[in-house]
Amino acid sequence: MEFGWSPRHEAYREEVRAALKDLLPADWRENYARYGMGSPEQIEFSRSFCPELAKRGLLLPHWPKAYGGRDGDPWEQFILAEEMKLAGEPRGPQYMNVNWIGPVLMKYGTPAQQAEHLTRIAAGTVIWCQCYSEPGAGTDLAALVTRAERVGDTYVINGSKIWTSYSRKADWCFLLARTGPERKAISIFLLPMDTPGIEVKPFPGLVEDGHLNEVFFTNVQIPVESRLGEESRAWDIITYALSFERVGIPRYNQGLKLLNLIMERLEGEGRAGDLVIRSRAGQIASKFEAARLLTYVVVDQRAKDRPPSIDANVSRVTAAEACLDLLDFIAEYAPDSMTEVGVDELRGFYRGNISSTIAAGTYEIQLNMIARQALGLPRGD
Ligand SMILES: Cc1cc2nc3c(=O)[nH]c(=O)nc-3n(C[C@H](O)[C@H](O)[C@H](O)COP(=O)(O)OP(=O)(O)OC[C@H]3O[C@@H](n4cnc5c(N)ncnc54)[C@H](O)[C@@H]3O)c2cc1C
Repeated sequence: MEFGWSPRHEAYREEVRAALKDLLPADWRENYARYGMGSPEQIEFSRSFCPELAKRGLLLPHWPKAYGGRDGDPWEQFILAEEMKLAGEPRGPQYMNVNWIGPVLMKYGTPAQQAEHLTRIAAGTVIWCQCYSEPGAGTDLAALVTRAERVGDTYVINGSKIWTSYSRKADWCFLLARTGPERKAISIFLLPMDTPGIEVKPFPGLVEDGHLNEVFFTNVQIPVESRLGEESRAWDIITYALSFERVGIPRYNQGLKLLNLIMERLEGEGRAGDLVIRSRAGQIASKFEAARLLTYVVVDQRAKDRPPSIDANVSRVTAAEACLDLLDFIAEYAPDSMTEVGVDELRGFYRGNISSTIAAGTYEIQLNMIARQALGLPRGD
């Protein structure tokens, strides 16, 4: 089979590229993208970039027209994601708004919640964070202990979250909290981050400084209208939300670009002809290409309205492995790029992807799912 783009999709990609060319300032790489998409610099940049993208009809082309979209197909959403990622993701965290928070609100939000949030998301001015993980609840989300107790017309929230991306600069929080003693009695709440009793503590790390935070909730009072969906029935919504994340972030174009960058450096050093280096580079390039095609299989399924399948996990595993291989290659053949001025993109990729096997479902969990659902292997527990 030969894969090719339709003239309509090619024209659309050109439209996205032209928008990026017009809208990104000359110092975009140097003064914004170099800090990473979870950095305060890049998050703040998204507040001026996304409204401009929205004016061109490119912030949420895949959304229904009724909510400000263009009734586009999943391919358009994906072409947009590919080009944004390649450019260093100037949408910052707002990619989450348009990819899954908005669609979840369209399906499960009350008219009041939709009116409040979808309008703001479509304008490109709001930053969200997702507060799921806790020190004792990551893969096993049902183990979370943050509580929301109903008191009259309010809920009172107490507990803490960890690994929360973007929360330092976020305006709104998509929160999971326990509303009953049964294991799966969990509800979703939408709350402003400036609600009294919320404290955000960033922690430094290999993944971009300031990207990850702890969030503490102490007697945080919110009205019952902040709850999304029925009380203690969050699982359907979470599963629906996660199904949008299954394809993940299209890292392959950026990965291939950086692989070429390293090969050019090695060429300059007279090492690019080394057979071991060439063979390793070829294997990594093939894996990124495989990740791309496997991702397109999943987008095709979505475009045909088929239910989420195990192919999404296969594509994520392939992409994660390609990233890890590239990280090894960088460490082995271009270690000085970690400290050199002028190759921030390489260093940023390294720091940003060291965790590519963890976020949104770890590598091991993806493998478990493939083992059971694709290979039919029995459960080990
Ligand atoms: C860059 C980054 C950004 C993140 N952003 C957010 C965010 O914005 N919001 C948020 O809520 N969370 C976020 N997270 C947290 C992320 O979702 C969790 O780290 C992830 O779900 C894993 O949970 P954990 O860290 O508790 O590890 P654990 O679940 O404790 O897993 C530890 C190890 O055990 C393995 N393991 C666990 N259970 C099984 C099993 N049943 N079978 C086989 N192996 C198993 C895992 O694969 C892993 O290798 C982020 C994480 C990272 C790295």
